[in-house]
Amino acid sequence: MTEQRRVIARVLSDAVDHPDVEEVYRRSTGIDPNISIATVYRTVRLFEEANILERHDFGDGRARYEETPDSHHDHLIDVHSGRVIEFQNPEIEALHREIARRFGYKLVGHRLELYAVPLAAGEGSEDQ
Ligand SMILES: [Zn+2]
Repeated sequence: MTEQRRVIARVLSDAVDHPDVEEVYRRSTGIDPNISIATVYRTVRLFEEANILERHDFGDGRARYEETPDSHHDHLIDVHSGRVIEFQNPEIEALHREIARRFGYKLVGHRLELYAVPLAAGEGSEDQ
């Protein structure tokens, strides 16, 4: 691995916020100013092909990346701030398996993105 690629790998493994390529580039050049955006694109694609990275589309037209997680999680996206919250829910997992089973399939994976806005004051206190 070249030194520049190592820097990009470190930026990606330090990230907890699902950055896009521009953001990975910004952080990488903070460590090594000689890294080009083309190198970041190339490296990200390489890592994605090697299954080191997972690509997400959170509905804003920008591909976002995270290190392929050890255990599955889903995402809730705050459409106002762009904040991404990771969650796991056993009932959702079971439901997805059951839906696949009903169609005669064994589930091997799924993606779930929830798009949400923050509750207004008091809104969260009611059970819906
Ligand atoms: Zn994630």
